[in-house]
Amino acid sequence: VALAPSAAELIAMRQAIEIAQDEAAALGPNPRVGCVILDSDGQYLANGFHLGVGHPHAEIAALEKMNTEVVGTTAVVSLEPCFRSDREQSCSKRLVEAGVKRVVIGQLDESAKAQGGAKYLADNGVEVVVGAMTEEAAAINPWFTKSIKLKRPYIRIKIAASLDGRVAAADGSSKWISGNPARDYVHQLRSEASVVISTIRTAQIDQSRFTARNTDGSLKSHQPQILLLGKEKLNSDHLVFQTGNQVDLIDTRDLSSLMKSLYQDQKLSVLIESGPTLATAFIEAGLVDEIIWVVSPILLGNQGIAALGDLGVSNIDQAIRPHVYEISQLGLDTIIKLQFPSES
Ligand SMILES: [Zn+2]
Repeated sequence: VALAPSAAELIAMRQAIEIAQDEAAALGPNPRVGCVILDSDGQYLANGFHLGVGHPHAEIAALEKMNTEVVGTTAVVSLEPCFRSDREQSCSKRLVEAGVKRVVIGQLDESAKAQGGAKYLADNGVEVVVGAMTEEAAAINPWFTKSIKLKRPYIRIKIAASLDGRVAAADGSSKWISGNPARDYVHQLRSEASVVISTIRTAQIDQSRFTARNTDGSLKSHQPQILLLGKEKLNSDHLVFQTGNQVDLIDTRDLSSLMKSLYQDQKLSVLIESGPTLATAFIEAGLVDEIIWVVSPILLGNQGIAALGDLGVSNIDQAIRPHVYEISQLGLDTIIKLQFPSES
């Protein structure tokens, strides 16, 4: 017989989902998770949430705050506690060791890296309740959820263009099309991605480091892996190699296979920052979940380089129409966020 959550556990799950989305919780490559611990009468004891890569998981954060007996308690977690066969420690093992009697789970973790927690807990005598507010719990981490469904990373593409849709002047120069606030925002997008993808050519022209920096120039706590596509050579003294971030140069045109291999490598979110050719290739391949389009109030005219290449649209009926879900202003620039519906 499948166990059902109690009323107190459903209230706790609502709290867990809420604290998972705390402002301090980084929108990074790790899913956001909240945990509430209840005593055997359903009374609140402690909570914890995951702050992002390098910080304790939500269950551990909650257990660490407990100043009463843990044995016999119930842990209510928005995401299935992790189970790592390749590691000594994981949240599932810690919950069993701590003597937690019952675990209520929102969303099951189907990522290859950490799945199997519910089974481990049940095998070790813990009462496991699955499916409490699953949809709400999954909605906390749309990238994570979609990535697992599609078996490829969640893919965002950033395009910074002039009012007339140009991303560079005729000579390829493109620095500072957008203003400072928008550029700070791009650094935030980088820190939210597991991997930033660009081309060797773009790296050469823009002399970009692809690091995620704060306004004061210091590095943000999470830095993405950098993947540069192309067959060109990149001088070993290029700025990108001086950042300490992992940088890989890959010569491939098979974007679909590349995305699959990143997924297998546990990279669940990607930010594309490139010129029109690669951006167009990703859109044509149906490999974009979200476009972050930065429009700046400058005009470059038709000598400028168009933001996108040929998308095979010759009639207005063939136009690609992503869904606009947010429009905001950063300084003088307008940020338009668009989503592509899921293929399945
Ligand atoms: Zn964990």
